[in-house]
This record gives sequence, C-alpha cells and structure tokens, in this order.
Amino acid sequence: MPQKSRDGYHLIVVGAGNAALTTALTAREQGAQVVVLEKAPKELRGGNSRFTGGLFRFAYRSIEEITPLRPDVLAAEWENIDVGTYPPERFYQDMMRVTGGLTDPDLSMVLAERSYETVRWLTGLGVRWEWTVLWSVRQGDQLRFNPGAVLEVENKGIGLTNTLFRVAEESGIEVQYQSKVVRLLQDRRGRVCGVTVKTPDGFHDLRARAVVLASGGFQANPEMRVRYLGPDWNLVKVRGTRFNTGEVLQAALDIGAQPVGHWAGCHATPVDANSPPVGDLALTDRTNRLSYPFALMVNVEGKRFVDEGEDLGQYTYAKTGRSILAQPRSLAFQIFDQKTVHLREKRYETGKPVVADTLDELARRLGLDPAALNRTVQEFNAAVRDGEFDPSRKDGKSTAGLEPPRSNWAQRIDSPPFVAYPVTGGITFTFGGIKIDTQARVLDTEDNPIPGLYATGEVTGGFFYFNYPGGAGLMRGAVFGRIAGRNAVGE
Ligand SMILES: Cc1cc2nc3c(=O)[nH]c(=O)nc-3n(C[C@H](O)[C@H](O)[C@H](O)COP(=O)(O)OP(=O)(O)OC[C@H]3O[C@@H](n4cnc5c(N)ncnc54)[C@H](O)[C@@H]3O)c2cc1C
Repeated sequence: MPQKSRDGYHLIVVGAGNAALTTALTAREQGAQVVVLEKAPKELRGGNSRFTGGLFRFAYRSIEEITPLRPDVLAAEWENIDVGTYPPERFYQDMMRVTGGLTDPDLSMVLAERSYETVRWLTGLGVRWEWTVLWSVRQGDQLRFNPGAVLEVENKGIGLTNTLFRVAEESGIEVQYQSKVVRLLQDRRGRVCGVTVKTPDGFHDLRARAVVLASGGFQANPEMRVRYLGPDWNLVKVRGTRFNTGEVLQAALDIGAQPVGHWAGCHATPVDANSPPVGDLALTDRTNRLSYPFALMVNVEGKRFVDEGEDLGQYTYAKTGRSILAQPRSLAFQIFDQKTVHLREKRYETGKPVVADTLDELARRLGLDPAALNRTVQEFNAAVRDGEFDPSRKDGKSTAGLEPPRSNWAQRIDSPPFVAYPVTGGITFTFGGIKIDTQARVLDTEDNPIPGLYATGEVTGGFFYFNYPGGAGLMRGAVFGRIAGRNAVGE
C-alpha cells in the first residue's frame, strides 16, 4: 500500500452515489484510507442513484446464474420463472444497437463482461434483489422477463444507497457532507493530488494519492443544458437530484481532461406532466409513465408523433422523453382503452387520469380538437393488422400504411371508457462526459492518462448515444467504480 497524503488519505472520491460508493468500498477492501466528498447535506445524499428504480442490467448465461442472487426464492418457484439467456455478447450488441454503433467498443465490452461478477459482488455486500416488475409480464403461472432486465434492488434506489452507505460507514469510510468540489489540484508534474472543496466554513484544500470523480452529469444545470443540449432543454423537468450541476466535469475539462461522447444527448423519459421541477425523494422514480407501448400517444394537436411500439420499452423509454419535449408545449397524452388499461404499470397511480366514455368528451377534457383526435384514432384503428396480441414479447402486431407506424402491440382503441394521462419529457442524465480508458483512468485530449485521476458513472462519456438500454447506468457506475477503486489504490 503506497503512502497516504499529508491529510491522511490514499483516495478522495468525489460524489456519493452508486458510482462513488462502489469505488470507495472497493478501495477500502484493499485497506485504503478513503474520504467521500458529497455536495449534498446528509438527508439528501446519494445523488441520482437514490432516485433510481434500482434496476441493474447484467449478463447471464442461464437461470442457474440468477439463483445465487435470489436465495429467498423457493426451489419450486423457479419452474415458473422465464429469464431467457443474456450472455455478455448480447449485452454488448444491445449497447451497439441502441447507440447506432457509436458506443466505445472497449468500454462497452468491459461493461458487459464484468456485469455479472459485479452483481455477485453487490450481493455479497448485502444488496438484496427482487424481480423487476416494469419489464416482466405474468402469463398464467409463468413470470416472463425481457432478458437482461431481471433484477432490481429491494426498495429500489433508496434500498441500494441505504445498503451502500451502511457498509461504507461500517468499514470505516469517511463521508463529508456539504462538501462541494470546485477545483482539482495538480503537482508540478501534472499529477492530480487533491481537490479544493467548498463547505459551509469556506474553501479548503484536501490532498490524497489519487482522486476518483463520480459526481454525475450536468442535467440539473439549466445553463449547461441550454449550452450543450439546446434551448428546448432550458425548462425541462429534472427527474433526479438537483446537485448534479456539472462543476466537477468543468473542473476536469479545465485541467485538460478529454470531452467525449454525445454532449448534445441525454436520457429523457416520459413523465407525468404535473411532476415537480426537480426530483422529489417522496416520489423518486414514480413520476415515470412508461406503459406507452400499449397506449396511443398524441400531442396537443391530436396527432401521433412516435412509433409507440418500435421495440421493447426498455430500449425506447430513454429516448421517448426527447420526442415528447419536441412537441408543441412539450406536452402529450397517453390514451388507453379498457383492453389495455390494465397493462399500465403501478406507478401511474401517482397521477390523475382523465376518463371519458367517448372520444369527443375525452378530447374536450384534454383541451384537444375532437375532430383531430377522432381522425387520428380512426386512421389508427383502420391500419391495425389482425394478429395475436402478446405484451410479453415483441408480437409483431403492427399497422399497415400508417405514419408513424406502430410496429408492435397495435390494438384498436375502441373500448370505452378511455383513460388518458398527460405527459412531458423529464431529463434523467446527460450522455457527454470525460473520457476514461478500460482502467477507468481519465485521458487528456492527446489520449494520455492524467496521472492520479480516475472517473466512473455519469460524469464519464462515450457509453451512450441517442438512446440507452434500461439498467445500464447503475451497472456502468458499479463496473467502472470497482475498476477505479482497485487501480487508484495502486497509485
Ligand atoms: C428517477 C431516476 C430513475 C433511474 N432509474 C435507474 C435504474 O433503475 N437503473 C439504472 O441503471 N439507472 C437508473 N437511473 C439512472 C441512474 O441514476 C444512474 O445511471 C446512476 O445512478 C448514476 O450514478 P452516479 O453515481 O454516476 O451519479 P449520482 O448517483 O447522481 O451521484 C453523483 C453524486 O455526486 C455528487 N456531486 C455532484 N457535484 C458534486 C460536487 N461538486 N462535489 C461533490 N459531490 C458532488 C452528488 O451530490 C451525488 O452524490 C435513474 C435515474 C433517475 C433520475
């Protein structure tokens, strides 16, 4: 173990979400003295990670690899569980497919290949799992999952962060709250050797042998959103923490870290149009409105604007928020009828639907032109092809000659009462960030590692472009958190 800094630390970890805490715990396992600097006060700690649904995407070759993760499931129950298989190659292909081939192939390969060992490690730490409800369907006795999206943490992001903080505190990791990092310190050779922190007492410098940045994206900073994502993003609702405002990202760029990835891109999902402007820990992720593959989605002109059934929801939800924001007044409505309303996920309970017996009445209550809504529904209904509707898989039940098309789960909207939910786009996190290599070292603009500096989680770029496969964010932070924690201790 190398010498500590004069402040007594081997490692400074910036941030206190999933990426930061997995880094700190890994470094601590090797005996390092670690300090975690969290900008938020204690009661608001945990970043976006605390708001999450706790879904971790990971690779597995068979159901036998899932069983050690769920020791609480009785032997007889396993016969009714269908998780398919999700080998690392498929995880990798999903990353390639949803990002249009732009994801960094080396980083995505590491993400896919290390995902299973990471989920085992988290289980060993005491993280408890349950079946994800969102992308599973019960058919008779069978519970069927979309492969790759099988487990979420018990009590979601709250459960995840509670466990990680508890283990961190028990293992002697120091967490300093209301400690906002504003600058990275370098020695004469350019090695990162500490940070400047702003606390309620003022500014001070803290030194360590290495620094790991895990401070999230810039989605909660309206000025940076407009600068990088464009003016449409100025007033967008922020789904998670208000503390991810990008100053650490900027501090890294200021010392020459390389910006990489989709700086104009972000993860944005359909959310309740009446959601609060920034994430609320009483609601966490429950403002999401993700059952649109079974609904008809129209804008304030009564027109459809996306293929609601383009793919499984886990592969479209992260880009659909952007499509809604691009509509007039950034507003849309998800309309269900009695054939589909039971397919709404439970989180819709946090909102107030508008219910009506006729389309005319529904349109009036939503403030839409009844003629426009009737026209859209008639055209849609006329285009629906016959076939078997199956919400558990891409059923190919599509429309003919409709623009935009409906590729799966097309059913006529003809069984009143109709039930509509107003939605807008909510930003989750930003895709652009600083470049790391497969060792989680931060690279400069000439592709050389900046000595002493590592990064993981949403502060890094190069993974996601235009779109995102559900559950990959937490896994990305944890996989590279473990790598960063291990390597930074060797400094
Ligand atoms: C509502 C919601 C639901 C989600 N659900 C899922 C899901 O189920 N599965 C999934 O994979 N992903 C999900 N995500 C995305 C997910 O949040 C992330 O990918 C992951 O949690 C990011 O972890 P992180 O540690 O990089 O960032 P964060 O958890 O946001 O942590 C960043 C930390 O840095 C701190 N910080 C910021 N600036 C400073 C500074 N200057 N100095 C010191 N500290 C600073 C913050 O306070 C915070 O503690 C969801 C996001 C939201 C908002």
